[in-house]
Amino acid sequence: MTEQRAVILGAAGFIGSHLTDRFLAEGWRVLGVDNLITGTMRNLAHLEREPRFEFLEQDVCLPLQVAGSVTAVLDFASPASPIDYLEKPFETMHVGSVGVENALKLCEAKGARFLLSSTSEVYGDPLEHPQRETYWGNVNPIGPRSVYDEAKRFAEAITMAYRRYRKVETRVARIFNTYGPRMRLDDGRVVPTLVAQALRGEPLTVFGDGLQTRSFCYVDDNVEGMWRLLRSDYAEPVNIGNPLEMTIRAFADAVQRHVGSHCTIEHRPLPQDDPRVRRPDITRAREVLGWEPQVGFDEGMDRTIAWFREQVSSGR
Ligand code: UDP
Repeated sequence: MTEQRAVILGAAGFIGSHLTDRFLAEGWRVLGVDNLITGTMRNLAHLEREPRFEFLEQDVCLPLQVAGSVTAVLDFASPASPIDYLEKPFETMHVGSVGVENALKLCEAKGARFLLSSTSEVYGDPLEHPQRETYWGNVNPIGPRSVYDEAKRFAEAITMAYRRYRKVETRVARIFNTYGPRMRLDDGRVVPTLVAQALRGEPLTVFGDGLQTRSFCYVDDNVEGMWRLLRSDYAEPVNIGNPLEMTIRAFADAVQRHVGSHCTIEHRPLPQDDPRVRRPDITRAREVLGWEPQVGFDEGMDRTIAWFREQVSSGR
């Protein structure tokens, strides 16, 4: 049997680097591609001597020329935190459109399978709760978050078009809030921000009244979901997230408990179009993939905080 080979776009990012580790552990060869605008080579430093791993520093908005056979392309290349995509609106829209089409063209040329990392943001500020894959969403198409939300909605549309018209085998994961080691301390998302603040003894910044909800999935569970989805024969979107829902205020309390800190809470204005609620309905993932999260919130937080503690103490 010929060796399996994955091209992972966004391999130097948070989820991309964990996926890279997983595919290598499964015996695949991996070509990682990243332009490092939000990813970092630190996430891949441990693979420096891994002969089955190659790295290409490139913007995926430029045509992807890859020599040799490719079994699968996994597209995880995009700024994904609200701060990142608000600072890089054009990069975000380009990578979600031109970048995704380049990835699909590569799949067409190589006969490779495609997995798109889509997002719960396609549901916008949802009017259905919890969110099922059949829900079409409530997205403000001209609001500040639209650069990300609409790019990902376009990414899903072009993925389905390549499946329908060009016969590319495609998979679509709608990823809900995911956390774990290798998140950037300064990416602005609630997990790294509040954990770093608690570790430094600074006030915890809670946006709005803190009664908005999120559901946090540990990264290893996410990667298991991606692995199963890629190997399944299921082409419709699948929610991958943890259904355990909590308010941001409750999350801030949990951070204090895990870190052992007693910081004050500092309320800041709620960003425009910040979704009020978010929780995946994972019935489809359970039925189609036999998947559900395995890592409990307390365990995931302990692992994540241990990693962030090292980062903070080494001055990152
Ligand atoms: N949030 C917060 N304080 C922060 C960062 C975020 O209260 O320092 C809130 C944010 O308003 C949102 C939730 O936490 O309601 C999750 O935000 P995040 O940026 O992690 O991702 P999102 O789910 O909005 O994409």
